[in-house]
Amino acid sequence: MTPFELAEPKTLKEAVGLLDADDPTVRPIAGGTALMLMMKAGVFRPSKLVSLRAIKELTSIEIVKGELTVGATTPLAVLEHSEAVRMHAPVITRALRTLSNIRVRNVATVGGALAHADPHMDLPPVLIALGARVVVQGRSGARTIPVADLFAGYFETVLAKDELIASLIVPAQDGRRAAYLKCTTRAVHDWPALGVAVSVAADGKAIKNASIVISAATETPMRMSAAEKAASGATDDAALRRAGDAAAAEAELISDGQGSAAYKKELVRVYVARALRAALGAA
Ligand SMILES: Cc1cc2nc3c(=O)[nH]c(=O)nc-3n(C[C@H](O)[C@H](O)[C@H](O)COP(=O)(O)OP(=O)(O)OC[C@H]3O[C@@H](n4cnc5c(N)ncnc54)[C@H](O)[C@@H]3O)c2cc1C
Repeated sequence: MTPFELAEPKTLKEAVGLLDADDPTVRPIAGGTALMLMMKAGVFRPSKLVSLRAIKELTSIEIVKGELTVGATTPLAVLEHSEAVRMHAPVITRALRTLSNIRVRNVATVGGALAHADPHMDLPPVLIALGARVVVQGRSGARTIPVADLFAGYFETVLAKDELIASLIVPAQDGRRAAYLKCTTRAVHDWPALGVAVSVAADGKAIKNASIVISAATETPMRMSAAEKAASGATDDAALRRAGDAAAAEAELISDGQGSAAYKKELVRVYVARALRAALGAA
């Protein structure tokens, strides 16, 4: 590794001030689980890292006006064990238990899990299905971005180089039921070939409306609007299968080490229907 400067600001404002809109070698570092791997592999050589670890204002989990608000440097393990999170959106708790291992979850943070923008990651599709948004702090103030609009491409976000994710907000779910399924084609802890997150408003087994998001098989996590339309008003299993067919037809899939695009198309068909069934059966 080449030498670099490490800054350890105590406030969000100070941290934003240390970033540089024009210099991609100046980067924030939170848990460091992704960034350190990139540095060790030599694909990222920073001139300065701005550590977010000493910023106390970014670590709370609270319910504000019925919405779950999570500070960006909250470790994933804290999110996983939070009673407030489990009560508000139990699908987050369930998804986190499948995210890597406890050593990674102890260190990796919510902000890093969103800003890293690897399409194989577990939280983005879940948070998009739940209608979550992030509050982003820049030099001239804060702005709010739906998680659905955060990803610009493969490992790319819409964040400016001098902006930081400050918090995540998950709105009240008002009785919606959600599920997240992923298909790993090799070892269970390997990166998935496909992730599917769904959230449904339903009356018993009859779906009023659904959010359906796929990830890992696509460049960025994506909502499947034709599948959502097909799922809306579904009252039987045949309709759930039709939603799976619609998702398979509309998804723009990539081939990679986890499988070919043709193979993933069949996974989408099966897993979207399966995730809808799981959500209908969820508490
Ligand atoms: C062995 C291993 C297995 C893994 N398995 C999984 C898995 O199964 N599922 C899964 O979803 N993920 C998995 N991951 C990825 C892991 O979730 C990410 O590495 C982690 O979430 C990144 O968080 P971090 O706090 O460590 O980020 P860092 O490594 O510190 O930063 C990552 C990126 O985000 C930026 N960043 C960090 N915080 C902010 C912020 N607040 N605002 C703006 N930019 C910010 C950094 O500049 C950097 O570009 C795995 C990682 C490892 C090392």
